[in-house]
Amino acid sequence: MSQLGCVSVDLDSLSHYCHIQGLSPDILSDHARALVATKAIPRLCELFSHLNLAATFFVVGRDIELPHMSAALAKANEQGIELANHSYSHHYSMSSWRTEAIIEDITRAQNEIEKISHLRPKGFRAPGYTVSASMVAAIESLKFEYASSTFPAVPYYLAKASVMGILRALRRPSKAMLDSPAVLLAPTRAYRPSHENPYQKGSARYLELPISVTPFSRLPVIGTFVSMMPEPVVTMSIHALKNEPLFNFEWHAIDVLDVTDGIPEILARQQRDLLIPAAKKIARFKKILTQLRDAREWVTLATAAQALKISVPFHG
Ligand SMILES: [Zn+2]
Repeated sequence: MSQLGCVSVDLDSLSHYCHIQGLSPDILSDHARALVATKAIPRLCELFSHLNLAATFFVVGRDIELPHMSAALAKANEQGIELANHSYSHHYSMSSWRTEAIIEDITRAQNEIEKISHLRPKGFRAPGYTVSASMVAAIESLKFEYASSTFPAVPYYLAKASVMGILRALRRPSKAMLDSPAVLLAPTRAYRPSHENPYQKGSARYLELPISVTPFSRLPVIGTFVSMMPEPVVTMSIHALKNEPLFNFEWHAIDVLDVTDGIPEILARQQRDLLIPAAKKIARFKKILTQLRDAREWVTLATAAQALKISVPFHG
């Protein structure tokens, strides 16, 4: 089997970033609320079409109600982009809910996404990448073929803990939730999660496709990292993945937006990747993907899960 690559994009709208940064979503104009649909999705579709790559979008069910979102997603799906489930509410505390409540939320998103793609989504990504035993039970009972929530990145974990601490000290608490440190030792390649500890190998019926981090140092090779780090660091980190069966390259819609698109300054000052011009970020993505295009077969995550499950058999 050839090595696989997949770009998966979390389409979280700007209100979710306000929640993370301890800001009120009321700072967003209608124009800003619609930016993922009106600017980010068209830019992503153009890039993937130019490079002739398949990709996966993780859709937040509630965001489908935003103006222009449904049409933008339908167009992306026509282009061959997979639409997968990123929950309905994108509630950061979802992993602490009972299984029944998680099932209800995710099912609502399944129904909304299916109305657009005419296909039941096969994949799920947890809000804030935080998974629990009750969430494993929900994903399994909804018969997902794969999930892609495990993000075993050490610097990401430390940065999140420190930002949350600072916002708490400023009495402007973040709605984000810090995961169990067990995630830091989670497998970095496709595995079946344990029902008790989703960050250990076990016998779940679905496959977990962890978001790519470099071996050993566990640097997060994701869109924000690639757009913000000095180019030699990015090149080295991507080179470190050369033997990985899957490069699960995770982006966010805001990776192709910037403050000049009409994002409030107060949000951009805290979410600093929004200060980098979108054209510059897109040029860097294009360069990297052009270099990697022939080294791997670029597929949707659903296709990757199908191919990789042969190497991770189910012993239920
Ligand atoms: Zn998200």
